[in-house]
Amino acid sequence: MKDIPALFGSMVFNDQVMQERLPADTYQALMRTVENGRRLDPSVAAVVAGAMKDWAIEKGATHFTHWFQPMTGITAEKHDSFISPVPGGKVIMEFSGKELIKGESDASSFPSGGLRATFEARGYTAWDATSYAFIKDGTLCIPTAFCSYGGEALDKKTPLLRSMEVLGRQALRVLRLFGNEDVSLVRTTVGPEQEYFLIDKSMYDRRKDLINTGRTLFGARPSKGQELHDHYYGAIKSRVAAYMRDLDEELWKLGVLCKTEHNEGAPSQHEMAPIFTTANIAADHNQLTMEMMKKVAARHDLVCLLHEKPFAGVSGSGKHNNWSLTTDTGVNLLEPGDTPHENAQFLLFLCAVIKAVDEYQDMLRVSIASAGNDHRLGAAEAPPAVVSIFLGDELTAILESLENETAYDAKEKVQMRVGVHTLPRFPKDTTDRNRTSPFAFTGNKFEFRMLGSSQPVSEPNVVLNTAVAAALDEFATELEAAQDFNGALGALIRRVIRTHKRIIFNGNGYDEAWLAEAAARGLCNYPTTADCLPCYVLPKNIALFEKYGVYSETEMRSRYDIYLQNYAKVLHIEAHTMVSMTQKDIIPAALRYGRELAQTIVAKRTALPGLACADTEETLLKKVNALTDRLAGCLDTLRESLHRADEPGWTSQSLAEYYRDGVVPAMEALRTAADGLEVLVAKDLWPLPSYGDMLFSVR
Ligand code: ADP
Ligand code: MG
Repeated sequence: MKDIPALFGSMVFNDQVMQERLPADTYQALMRTVENGRRLDPSVAAVVAGAMKDWAIEKGATHFTHWFQPMTGITAEKHDSFISPVPGGKVIMEFSGKELIKGESDASSFPSGGLRATFEARGYTAWDATSYAFIKDGTLCIPTAFCSYGGEALDKKTPLLRSMEVLGRQALRVLRLFGNEDVSLVRTTVGPEQEYFLIDKSMYDRRKDLINTGRTLFGARPSKGQELHDHYYGAIKSRVAAYMRDLDEELWKLGVLCKTEHNEGAPSQHEMAPIFTTANIAADHNQLTMEMMKKVAARHDLVCLLHEKPFAGVSGSGKHNNWSLTTDTGVNLLEPGDTPHENAQFLLFLCAVIKAVDEYQDMLRVSIASAGNDHRLGAAEAPPAVVSIFLGDELTAILESLENETAYDAKEKVQMRVGVHTLPRFPKDTTDRNRTSPFAFTGNKFEFRMLGSSQPVSEPNVVLNTAVAAALDEFATELEAAQDFNGALGALIRRVIRTHKRIIFNGNGYDEAWLAEAAARGLCNYPTTADCLPCYVLPKNIALFEKYGVYSETEMRSRYDIYLQNYAKVLHIEAHTMVSMTQKDIIPAALRYGRELAQTIVAKRTALPGLACADTEETLLKKVNALTDRLAGCLDTLRESLHRADEPGWTSQSLAEYYRDGVVPAMEALRTAADGLEVLVAKDLWPLPSYGDMLFSVR
């Protein structure tokens, strides 16, 4: 038996290690930086760097890197060894405070959306002392933010840190209004549940589409899919169990709080949920989790697919972003309380979320937009592209009574009022049985379920934090000026419910009728990434993020451009992969099968000269022939559509729309023809492992 408590965090320069290894005054100075965002004294940094280096070398590290999260959506690292030459042709191991705090990198190939021209390609990485350094593959990794020469954020971490600070500040103002003086810090907490597929490596290696794009671009439906729901929570196969154990250990060493593992809805689909932690650390840990999921799979001759939709017709993978606010005194601000006073405070925070989600539903949609996620949203396996909030019947009834100042409990005939002692006990175990809602209250936290499995969690949390901060700011300003706090609070809550209740929906989000109702309520519905991205630069959204210093207008415009380009590039790669697979693998297989059939017909006729016809072979040959011709036609159409995309004159937005309207339909037509052939052609001639092979490959 391994000693898990000893293993946990063994590769992390965590609080315990710091207390052991740093002089007391250095440790305290560092904590002041971590907790209050104070600037770190260079002399303190030098001491921390020395201790970090000694610790890392003892653990076998030879290199260090500033570990950051550029706009690629994954992490980046550039390793430097600790060696430094000394006289006599020898080296010593060194790591300075300067190297810890700041890195300069010629990072001209990272997407910047025009923020950096190549002639000023320098980017800076700056130590984020709020997230512990760790050792991965013999390298000391220092979590850092990544900015341009002009100070603009070029990464996903910087805006998240900014948004957490903004939300913390506004939440504190609200707490003070309720007479709370002990809290000095409010943190955003996040627990991301991560879904993934595992398939056998030998299958993966034979699929160029999986290798190039992470998803299957071809593949006929298997005879068995997920119809029986026999995979969800099913017994975990031993090869998968060994993988999960290995993954847990690797992540535990890195301090990731892996907690729950189970089989998911689709065959070969699984999930890992960690225990929640501070948003910024949760975002770092989710990146590490995705990286380790892939690395550990390789050791087991498996491949971990994190794409949102690896297999058509089979549920895709998402990520559930559980989100709440916690004080440094350990109170969850979204936990209904025991007293009317506590519940009045809870209601105000709840109202802030309702207002924020309603006012910035477009930005929430944008924050989870990607070509991959477009396949999931609205496909009756994931929430629709329309953002709405699930509160549950009981909480909704409470809000309705508050809005109308009517009795909540018919028996007691108590009028619902805020501030006066007529609030009832709130339901504490609003277990959420609605899995179709994009944004659900689950008793003491909200669960944002629209995220795609491969996306970093930073962006949706930036939007959520900033939008909720804006609502709290408005509430605090209004209530701070009020003569009669209770009266003003009641009026404010009623007004918020009245104005924003359209965003609350407790029904079935997969239902077609909901889309019509949502439209009648005036809610946004952007089916694709190309549709929703323009919201990024709407004046109201730029105004929000600029006001709180989370994004500048320049940063937003650059991000808008990066996401548009990314969408077009993903579709470009997918379409070209389809062209090549069709030309080089699929058409040759169809022709080979056609020849085999033709030869059989001739051979049979020769062998049996009296034979009038060879029905089976002839019918099959005609079908294969017709479909092959159709496939070749579709291939030409797709090629032509791609030529147009290469012509000059597009803007990023018009090109994204062209891919959506001009290329995607051609890809779909090509796939239909190819999948039709797969059903006909002999298995030994078909060049690609089938859905059945892949989905049931791991035993
Ligand atoms: P589910 O039914 O969705 O699986 P769980 O109760 O298992 O719900 O919790 C899912 C995730 O929510 C876990 O990662 C958990 O750590 C996280 N979570 C729980 N409480 C909070 C909170 N206060 N803030 C953020 N995340 C939380
Ligand atoms: Mg969940």
